[in-house]
Amino acid sequence: MTTSTNTIPNRQLQSPKLLRNGKTHIESINPYQNALQQLDLAAKHLELDPGIHEILKHHERELTVHFPVKMDDGSTKVFTGYRVQHNVARGPSKGGVRYSANTDIDEVRALAMWMTWKCAIVNIPFGGAKGGVVCDVKSLSKGELERLTRRYTSSISIVIGPDTDIPAPDMGTNAQVMAWMMDTYSMTQGRTVPAVVTGKPVAVGGSEGRNDATGRGIVFVTREALKEFGKRLTDVTVAVQGFGNVGGVAASIFHEMGAKVVAVSDAVGGIYNPEGLDIPKLQECTNNDGTLTTHKGGKPITSRELLELDVDVLVPAATENQITDENADRIKAGIIIEGANGPTTPSADRILQEKGIFLVPDVLANAGGVLVSYFEWVQDLQFFFWQEEEVNSKMEALLVHAYREVRQMAKREEVDMRLAAYLIGVKRVAEASLMRGIYP
Ligand code: GLU
Repeated sequence: MTTSTNTIPNRQLQSPKLLRNGKTHIESINPYQNALQQLDLAAKHLELDPGIHEILKHHERELTVHFPVKMDDGSTKVFTGYRVQHNVARGPSKGGVRYSANTDIDEVRALAMWMTWKCAIVNIPFGGAKGGVVCDVKSLSKGELERLTRRYTSSISIVIGPDTDIPAPDMGTNAQVMAWMMDTYSMTQGRTVPAVVTGKPVAVGGSEGRNDATGRGIVFVTREALKEFGKRLTDVTVAVQGFGNVGGVAASIFHEMGAKVVAVSDAVGGIYNPEGLDIPKLQECTNNDGTLTTHKGGKPITSRELLELDVDVLVPAATENQITDENADRIKAGIIIEGANGPTTPSADRILQEKGIFLVPDVLANAGGVLVSYFEWVQDLQFFFWQEEEVNSKMEALLVHAYREVRQMAKREEVDMRLAAYLIGVKRVAEASLMRGIYP
């Protein structure tokens, strides 16, 4: 990544202290351990049957694949990929595929478990899964990316399918990658199977509105959260960490709806202007230069500094473990809406709660994406497609309903919004498991 911009990459600026195992503090936090802690908390509060608790701690199926890809220079490289299915008590498993140099089996396990709760919280008939390939997407040519995607899909084709496990985009993947996955799977079946993945281009059975769904959902959830404080989107300042398919879209919709977006950041760095940023211009910079940091309309900041700004709403929409026990005490935002999966560690959760910060957790806040994935799957199975307005309004209705259920639970049980969401999600999955019983 180039550094010839008006800011220096975050990692270099921070010069993080290395721990004895050679990892930074953030890298040494295991997301799967965090996911287990969150489940334990809910299980305790629900007085969950120990047998069911034990089932939910484990993943039903974990596939690791090592597969070769012909590179452009004629060499052969072997990549490692995963597809992990956490739980299918409520239906086929659902969840994205992440392409990242830092992914590993524990990250994929955490993300798969979070998908189980997310689908249950918004009450769609899916279990949870996730996939990942260890690779640096930016270093791959388009041809290499296509060959990697096709070979990964073929390697995991024994566990995916329109009624078993349905992948979707996540960090490092997009609609084009989903089209290649759908085509590869279809070739092995000898027929076109659009419903095997969601988040596809509209031309090959994708849904209108899917691309913006996660970001749009975040804005709906923020609007609902603000109502509790007697505020509207037009009254508040917002900082968004991450400017990709989640953060970038959310920032644009916040801007369109009249919120003042004062800070945004991408993997290179961030920008801050207390008077408000010109988000369409920042999108232009990202399209032209590959980063928003070439924009001159504000003060350069790091994406870590962004988290500590004095704003009304903070949206961490980049990656896991951004708000930890190291920085939680310095967070000044009144409301946190988790766009990314797992941006806050359990110990940071406790600090934020003590500070009285109102947090809407990932499993609710970013569920707009999987909701529209569900609609895409339904449309594909019926070969009958809806207009964008219908997609957006159905998503809004289900997401707002889920928000209200979680809020009511939080009030009734006097717990924070994450635990309240888990009480609903874990209970629904536990009920399904209990009713189905244990085979044989
Ligand atoms: N990767 C997204 C998520 O974390 C979407 C998953 C899906 O649509 O299946 O929610």
